[in-house]
Amino acid sequence: MPDTIHFTRQVPDPGFIMKRNQIWKIYGTDFKANTVRLLEETGLAQMIGDRKKRIGIKPNLVVPSPAEFGATTHPEIVAGIIEYLQRNGFEQIVVAEGSWVGDRTSEAYEICGYRGICEQYNVRFVDTQKEKWHTTDCAGMKLNLTNITDEIDFLINVPVMKGHCQTKVTCALKNLKGLLPNREKSRFHTMGLHKPIAHLQTAVRQDFIVVDHICGDMDFEEGGNPVVRNCIMAATDPVLTDSYACYLMGYTPDEIPYIRLAESLGIGTTDLDAADIITLQSGAGDTAFNNPSFFEEELPREHKLLEVSYAVDAVDSCSACYANLVGALWRLREEGLIDRIPKPIGIGQGMQGKTGKIGIGKCTAGFDVCIMGRDNCGSGKKNRGSEA
Ligand code: SF4
Repeated sequence: MPDTIHFTRQVPDPGFIMKRNQIWKIYGTDFKANTVRLLEETGLAQMIGDRKKRIGIKPNLVVPSPAEFGATTHPEIVAGIIEYLQRNGFEQIVVAEGSWVGDRTSEAYEICGYRGICEQYNVRFVDTQKEKWHTTDCAGMKLNLTNITDEIDFLINVPVMKGHCQTKVTCALKNLKGLLPNREKSRFHTMGLHKPIAHLQTAVRQDFIVVDHICGDMDFEEGGNPVVRNCIMAATDPVLTDSYACYLMGYTPDEIPYIRLAESLGIGTTDLDAADIITLQSGAGDTAFNNPSFFEEELPREHKLLEVSYAVDAVDSCSACYANLVGALWRLREEGLIDRIPKPIGIGQGMQGKTGKIGIGKCTAGFDVCIMGRDNCGSGKKNRGSEA
């Protein structure tokens, strides 16, 4: 259990830079103003230093769904980061992201409000689904990264803290998967997902993390069941950040293998006992969030996925396929219909060339009944150095 400090400083210390064992939090509904305040208090500009540095901002636009549904990063947070950076003299800013396999980033860019932000602040947006890519050695593992990863000097990761149908928790570490080309995202699943996520961190360093803990879905990464907490957090250690996310969501780092693997690769620490959790008082109008009892409120721990995963036979399934299936199964369970469908339902890249009764996605094309889904999932595409 980390120590919690309730912090009330009114005037930021201009020379202060947050420490690596710290996680700063602020509660409230003025998301842009609270983001700016968090960055001022934690000393982001001092941390970046040279105003000529190229700064990358990596939100989560996994699906074309507005942030209030619990899947994507609130655009107000990214607007707050850009405003803060521009006010402090940083001009080379790029926002980079790619949606999951099965959805198009260009749709999320519009629907999630990022076109508006990028045009308002005159900031470039890079769709990593359309970027060229190269192969990099990531601590003994060859991974394919989009070229934008080599054009960033300081990366600000802006994940949503939420549940995930396969890894249980997704926050800082897993969010970097959006910087991969589509085909590599699918390949990660054939490599067990956890190990490549951990190794990816050795080639793409996240220098600063702003966590959207406003209303993440605690079970499904594509959202739909938002749990409102109206909290934004700042940190610099992604392993510590994810360990704290586990703590809040009722898991331990031992239940999420990529967190322990990242720690073993020297990316950060899972030691929450040595962490300082610092809660800033929010603006005067947000009195509800300045009530200390609010901060201790627990997140729901239903873990819905565990109750329907028995119905699925998954081998190397991509997240989009798997998440849509278990989401549908959960709705069938709620309606009392789950026992009326034949089980198990086959899914995943490991099902290619196999037979069975019911399958989801074109990887199960050989099954008696196959529900294909959208056609842009990448299955069967050739490796050609660009997803464009
Ligand atoms: S059909 Fe296969 S390749 Fe396509 S998203 Fe599903 S599991 Fe991945």
